[in-house]
Amino acid sequence: MNSPFDLADELGPQKVVHIQNAANGLKAIVVIDNTAAGPSIGGVRMVPDVTLEECARLARAMTYKNAAAGLPHGGGKAVIVGNPTMAGKEELIRAFAQGVAELEDYIPGPDMGTDETAMAWMRDEIGRAVGLPRVLGGIPLDEIGITGFGLGVAAEAAEAFCDISIDGARVAVQGFGAVGKHAARALAERGARLVAASDSGGTVLDQGGLPIEDLIALKSAGKSVTEFAGATSEPTEAAITAECDILIPAARPDVITDANAADIKARLVLEGANIPASMSAERALHDQGVIVVPDFIANAGGVICASVEYHGGTESGARDTVAERIRSNTMEVLERARDTNVLPRDAARTMAGERIRAAMEFARFA
Ligand code: NAD
Repeated sequence: MNSPFDLADELGPQKVVHIQNAANGLKAIVVIDNTAAGPSIGGVRMVPDVTLEECARLARAMTYKNAAAGLPHGGGKAVIVGNPTMAGKEELIRAFAQGVAELEDYIPGPDMGTDETAMAWMRDEIGRAVGLPRVLGGIPLDEIGITGFGLGVAAEAAEAFCDISIDGARVAVQGFGAVGKHAARALAERGARLVAASDSGGTVLDQGGLPIEDLIALKSAGKSVTEFAGATSEPTEAAITAECDILIPAARPDVITDANAADIKARLVLEGANIPASMSAERALHDQGVIVVPDFIANAGGVICASVEYHGGTESGARDTVAERIRSNTMEVLERARDTNVLPRDAARTMAGERIRAAMEFARFA
């Protein structure tokens, strides 16, 4: 990148802010990508290193996700350079909050390395943040499992587009964390059975069905799913290529690649994690007849919930909104993909892009 403007296109970014304060050691980047639909919402990441390009890419992903979900918010992202377990984290987060106090078109939310406590500190400093503790009016999205709940809705909506009935379907979950375990629950409630579950310790497999609540209890006790007695244990990657009908990658980016796409048995992939598949692997899956519901459609439950919280809504209101938005968006994206013979991701980007440009027609950028 020769100039920050190399990052720009007609959608954004609108503002790129570097914050540096030698007195308190704060180094941070904030990218406000596009605010045509409303003030941007996006997570505050705390990681030891970051590039402006990465922050801008994450902010753009939020613009698409928020527009696709029909939220009155644009996309933004912030990265604080630091170690999430460092001493003095509270002071650094509070200093960051002061640094973004005047960026009123950026609403911070939790992300890697920050949590609801960090959001409470930010709200205390500048009066705005989402993903707050319950006592501050927050809706604890990981505790209630809203993103996993949304994946269950996406599965139901996708049923009509693939040769699968959720009732009786075999499900593999890669990454049995906040998103993965609640997705497993949501699908089990619809009659599916969990046949593979993995975490960073490995994968457990049982075609007869794994007991979801027992696996959740193990994770709550700080153990790995592989400590479950009675199921076959394999390396972590085994969940991706397990014998199943529905695959939910819910751990890390880039786990579905050109090297393993051909070995995937699932006919429906619901992307719980962000960018779990490379673009060429998504194309390969499409060519194999696998339906892939892309991340920013399938895993939008968290940000929809954050938006409902920001506008003073309740937990049950958040569930209703997540169900309604994810159902209609999944159906629209899969219909567009089928009718125009493009990848669901391309159909989703077109749909979100139309919504962003329509909102921009009303915007006057001062
Ligand atoms: P989490 O930390 O609660 O769970 C992640 C799980 O993945 C853990 O159980 C971990 O052991 C496991 N894991 C790590 N590396 C693995 C590997 N190589 N193979 C298999 N399992 C592995 O995180 P989360 O909140 O559930 O988020 C999961 C993903 O979904 C992340 O990419 C996150 O950015 C994305 N996401 C989360 C939300 C949300 O609401 N929490 C919303 C949208 C997207």
